[in-house]
Amino acid sequence: MIIDGKSISKEIIEEVKKGILEAGTFNMTAVAYEEDVESLVYFNSIKKNAEKIGINFNLLVIKGEQLIERIDELNRDKSVDAIIVGRPFPKGITNDMVALSLDPDKDADCVTPQNMGQLYLGIENVAPATARAAIDILERNNIELRGKSAVIINRSVTVGRPLSQMLLNRDVTVTVAHSKTKDIEGIIERSDIVFLAVGKAGYLKASTLKSKKIIVDIGINVVDGKVKGDFDPDQEREGIDYTPVPGGVGSVTSAEILRNGLILAKSRRGEKD
Ligand code: NAP
Repeated sequence: MIIDGKSISKEIIEEVKKGILEAGTFNMTAVAYEEDVESLVYFNSIKKNAEKIGINFNLLVIKGEQLIERIDELNRDKSVDAIIVGRPFPKGITNDMVALSLDPDKDADCVTPQNMGQLYLGIENVAPATARAAIDILERNNIELRGKSAVIINRSVTVGRPLSQMLLNRDVTVTVAHSKTKDIEGIIERSDIVFLAVGKAGYLKASTLKSKKIIVDIGINVVDGKVKGDFDPDQEREGIDYTPVPGGVGSVTSAEILRNGLILAKSRRGEKD
């Protein structure tokens, strides 16, 4: 079975639209430096969805070395409710520099230590969009998580680490694997759910799996001009359910950014979500 992300994305966007009708619109700014083509494409597609439902979405294209200074200005700009910063960061700018400079009250992708720390306490106010998308695509397709075992093949601060906390918050037994992990094949085989974010097209093939499994494919790879995931459904297999690429986690992620924007805007105005 293919676990669809497009309908979930639409569902979340509808919820944000409803939230805006009730609470008023908000202003979101995305910051990308001019050479970061992938973020520019990604932010332009979010902007299209945002504007369709009446969100004021400003895409700010800057010179890489200006990043921290521009974040500072946006923090101080009272008209800005939510900020998202494109990755990878420009040369010389680290994850810590961005995470520590962004105002947590405007942090639309949950990168600040304050918002990330809340996840570790089991509080999910804003959550990193990709991790939330990977969970929402399952929960909103009525796939039960509680009591399941999962492996996440990724330990990055954007994907694997927050996702592991959010799965623990849902009573999942979690293994976090990475490039130094031994016997990944065995760990995959013993897991009910496999979250893939390796960044290697065809890293895992359906034909190599022996038992029933849910594959959540977070990977985005461009091969011969086509977008591919880390999972290769090379053989139709009974009991192997997976999220497609494109049309899976990636489409839900863009909608989650807008949802985070609404949550931040409402809490800045003192309203409960
Ligand atoms: P990253 O920081 O490079 O992380 C890749 C992870 O994969 C690392 O933890 C790495 O291990 C692990 N890895 C690499 N080769 C491996 C191997 N042979 N066996 C086991 N583990 C291996 O990248 P990222 O930024 O987290 O992104 C990962 C993927 O997710 C990319 O394809 C990216 O495009 C995609 N992504 C998608 C979304 C979305 O919304 N769908 C959002 C963000 C990222 P080490 O830590 O040991 O190096």
